[in-house]
Amino acid sequence: MIERLVAFDTTSRESNLALIDFVRDYLDRWRIKSELVYDEARRKANLFATIGPSDQGGVMLSGHSDVVPVDDQDWASDPFKLEPRGDRLYARGSADMKSFIAVMLARVPEFVTRSLAVPIHLALTYDEEVGCLGVRSLIAALAARPVKPRLCIIGEPTMMQPVIAHKGSRRLRCHVHGHEAHSSLTHKGVNAIEAAAAVITHISGIARGKREHGPFDEAFDPPYTTLQTGVIAGGTAVNIVPRECRFDFEMRHLPADDPSVIVDDVKRFAATLLPEMQAVSAGAGIAFEETNTVQALSAKPDEEVVQLALALSGANGTGKVSFATEGGFFQQAGIPTVICGPGSIEQAHKADEFIALDQVRQCEDFIDRLIERVRR
Ligand SMILES: [Zn+2]
Repeated sequence: MIERLVAFDTTSRESNLALIDFVRDYLDRWRIKSELVYDEARRKANLFATIGPSDQGGVMLSGHSDVVPVDDQDWASDPFKLEPRGDRLYARGSADMKSFIAVMLARVPEFVTRSLAVPIHLALTYDEEVGCLGVRSLIAALAARPVKPRLCIIGEPTMMQPVIAHKGSRRLRCHVHGHEAHSSLTHKGVNAIEAAAAVITHISGIARGKREHGPFDEAFDPPYTTLQTGVIAGGTAVNIVPRECRFDFEMRHLPADDPSVIVDDVKRFAATLLPEMQAVSAGAGIAFEETNTVQALSAKPDEEVVQLALALSGANGTGKVSFATEGGFFQQAGIPTVICGPGSIEQAHKADEFIALDQVRQCEDFIDRLIERVRR
């Protein structure tokens, strides 16, 4: 099943429908109905299916169907063809996160024949890797149902250790609109790049403050909220006072750190630059656009879903990670969630991504223990 799934090129920019259709047909053969939730262009879809009774919550196993690009990466073998070497399986998505999906699908015959007392739901999403886009419409579809899943386990690669918290992220684009002038007449222009630079410097000052003064949570690496500017564009020629500049920045915040306080701080600082800019040109301004938000995840160790993941994995403790997942969205929607899946995030997104066979086995054991728990 892993081999079958990695052969679908589900890089986020591509359609994922070939994979989704394959899964739908596969479930169909076991008389399991799938609900597909399409994107606007009907190029992509989430898939949701329930096995067992439909009148109660149950356990949702969830994974994203998309993978990151292989562009400019130096692979030793075809990234879309599973390559067993030693005790590892190499392919794009082998760790992040098609092996988990494959194990859950491979166990469908067991789910069906064991006659479940508590339902198991299977959820596949699209466009996780480009900002958790697909999960939003899946959650809307779940909210419209009479019963929603009671718990969720997302099989992102955690080496089968239950992860109960991750940072959230917030991305913004800042547009600085200045006023063009000949570069010999700087007093008649408003330099958009220089205003942008002042805002960026303020952002890195906030980042320094977080690094030095916290808040801190030592379970994360790094143990504080981070901010950075990642893209900038502006100006046309060195002898023209630049009229436009825009830049993209993001923060990755601890679950306990409120990102809107940080955003407000940046906006307040930008507002202090306006009087001087507008004294030269009334039309000058600075605007912010939120481009993406991913909710932080933060479950408590005594929650049922955490205890379940500990029992199924046999792990003796929980962890926290800095990479974002769809978990925060499910939690926000009232579905308690943990992250627990095979493989390591260290191998994800890189050339020669692989999963160790031992991890696949541990994932199979995890699902088998789940079946024991929920069968009649
Ligand atoms: Zn992932």
